[in-house]
Amino acid sequence: MSSTATDPNRLTDPADPARLEALATAAGRDLEEASAQEVLRWAAETFGRRFCVTSSMEDAVVAHLASTALPGVDVVFLDTGYHFPETIGTRDAVAATMPLNVITLTPRQSVAEQDAEYGPALHDRDPDLCCSLRKVEPLQRGLAGYDAWATGLRRDESPSRANTPVVAWDAKRRKVKIAPIARWTQADVDAYVNAHGVLLNPLLWEGYTSVGCSPLSCTRKPGEGEEGRAGRWADSGKTECGIHL
Ligand code: SF4
Repeated sequence: MSSTATDPNRLTDPADPARLEALATAAGRDLEEASAQEVLRWAAETFGRRFCVTSSMEDAVVAHLASTALPGVDVVFLDTGYHFPETIGTRDAVAATMPLNVITLTPRQSVAEQDAEYGPALHDRDPDLCCSLRKVEPLQRGLAGYDAWATGLRRDESPSRANTPVVAWDAKRRKVKIAPIARWTQADVDAYVNAHGVLLNPLLWEGYTSVGCSPLSCTRKPGEGEEGRAGRWADSGKTECGIHL
């Protein structure tokens, strides 16, 4: 897995999807036990600038890891129009202080335009549609220029994420999907944050354990003994926004 420009294993720009899928399958097998740093070094060497990280700005752990492997890496943030001010502040602090390039994606419609077409507070009535309009579609559009993307998914976050692969083929988007910290625990995250002084969303100090959009139907603090993502769409039975399904 050399990184020289003449390396025949280095992908052309853009890569053939069939080759990407084969690469994802092989890497999914070979990198399952690799460290997050090794996985991201492989991503940087293989995809170069056609690799990006997505971040909800709950923390900057994966962004920090990726910027170490690939300084100047693109970090994609979905601005749904419903974020807490603390989340926007975290994004701005990350952009100002870290060696990476924050790219903010926005939905096709503003919140006011969406309200006019679908009625107010769509998040309370049809959160799947709201997430589709404000998260899934913008990300689909925003990832068009990349061959591979990384997320901060971890297996210990919730039952819905228990089988998250470290590297897999994202058939929906025809890209390589990478979860470098899939095998990490919350204790691993805390240790990395403390060791590297990684930026955190201040809401984590107020009792939130998973930070999404600000409507109460989308994000609330978990109750005593509840798992970390229990406060997300807590009263709807929804567990994921749709990006990772
Ligand atoms: Fe809409 Fe809530 Fe999904 Fe944000 S998390 S896009 S407000 S339903």
